[in-house]
Amino acid sequence: MFDLGIVNGKIVDSEKVYLGNIYISDGKIKCITNVDVQMDAEKIIDATGKLLFPGVIDAHLHIGEYKAEYEEMDTSTAAAVAGGVTCCVDMPVNTKSMSIIDTDIFEEKRKHLSEKSYMDYSMWGAFVPEHFGDLKGMHDMGAAAFKCFMTGASNGFTAPTMADIRDGMNAVKEFDGLIGFHCENKDMIDAGLQKMKDEKLNTRQAFLDSRPLSAEIIAVRDVIELARETGCKVHICHVSHPTVAQIIEEAQMEGVDITAETCTHYLVFSEEDLLAKGCLYKCAPPLREKGAADGLWEYVQKGVLGCVVSDHSAGLPEDRDDSKKPVYELGNGISSVQTMLQVFYDNAVNKRGKSPTLIAKVMSENPARRFGLYGRKGAIKVDFDADIVMIDPEKDWKITNESLLYKQQISAFVGLEGTGLPVMTMIRGRVVSENGEVLASEGSGEFINPLEINYCDNSQRRYIV
Ligand SMILES: [Zn+2]
Repeated sequence: MFDLGIVNGKIVDSEKVYLGNIYISDGKIKCITNVDVQMDAEKIIDATGKLLFPGVIDAHLHIGEYKAEYEEMDTSTAAAVAGGVTCCVDMPVNTKSMSIIDTDIFEEKRKHLSEKSYMDYSMWGAFVPEHFGDLKGMHDMGAAAFKCFMTGASNGFTAPTMADIRDGMNAVKEFDGLIGFHCENKDMIDAGLQKMKDEKLNTRQAFLDSRPLSAEIIAVRDVIELARETGCKVHICHVSHPTVAQIIEEAQMEGVDITAETCTHYLVFSEEDLLAKGCLYKCAPPLREKGAADGLWEYVQKGVLGCVVSDHSAGLPEDRDDSKKPVYELGNGISSVQTMLQVFYDNAVNKRGKSPTLIAKVMSENPARRFGLYGRKGAIKVDFDADIVMIDPEKDWKITNESLLYKQQISAFVGLEGTGLPVMTMIRGRVVSENGEVLASEGSGEFINPLEINYCDNSQRRYIV
């Protein structure tokens, strides 16, 4: 007798969609049968007409508490599970105290997440030159990857020189770790911002001009050369333009151990949204010209941009409003973790005619593989955690401020309409959300340590394409 059966659903994996029944006990998927093979289970969920996806793994988001008035761990993670995200790799930027630069701060944040998070979580550590000696310790505690801001960032994120990055890559290569890069050339970004301030260039166009595509291209090329030399595994965060993806593809073809992601906002918006609608669309790297999204979709389909992530990053309404402050003083970042799956589903399947398998690939399997979570997370397979999202493909939706569970109920995605909505989210066999309502309790999420997952296929370096 199983604890639970989910029957008559269309199960989606990275290669096919098939009708089947899923049986679950002790939080794990125990068996998957044809629809005509019914097993005994204490509870049955009927999934007739619904799609069953592996839970989304958001490998890039900022859970919160950098500034508690922006976002908190409970609000962002409750929003995530309502939207079908079951596990994440949390960025090391936003803590009350400091960025995650050493094992003490890593443990402090892990503990805090264990009290607050509604979803399962893994964690990034910070790649900061003064703390390269702490990288191995954080890796041993379960850091899935290390984040490098080539431009620097607030909260203790000093900007590394290229020599620092080379040293750090050699250190991380020693223990076969992964470094993720925010790629924009620091000199160019600093000069662009300074020019805006000096010349009081307070327009949205001036912001776009201050962060040119060339700054992203130059930074990515630099990272590729060092990865080629050192052999360190690298991951390029939030690719904003197909030209950047093309450079990454060439490096992949040459055997450099490099993977990359893009975000839902680059796939559906353009700089015209920022110019016309305002600074809720302000992010870094910025949204690019109309048409860039079409190119990005091609590289997602090809597997070059193997992960699609949210880069959820919250802010106060006045921090995204250029009628209240100069553009150059406003924050960057878009709130999107709650809506990433429905937006990606609608655009991929309904608007662009892609197979739902693409979603299982780029939102679950590939991030799980690259960040060492595969074996527990990333697929609907026997012995994996029963992390499952049910999508009703017929359900229409419109994103409103009121529907958002974030602390600040604002987002560039408000106003979007589409079809196909997550109606049930399950983590380790427990229904954590149904029809947008969160049923789990605060702190029910679990820390997922890649070092504790033994799966023979886990070392696979490349995305499946
Ligand atoms: Zn980010």
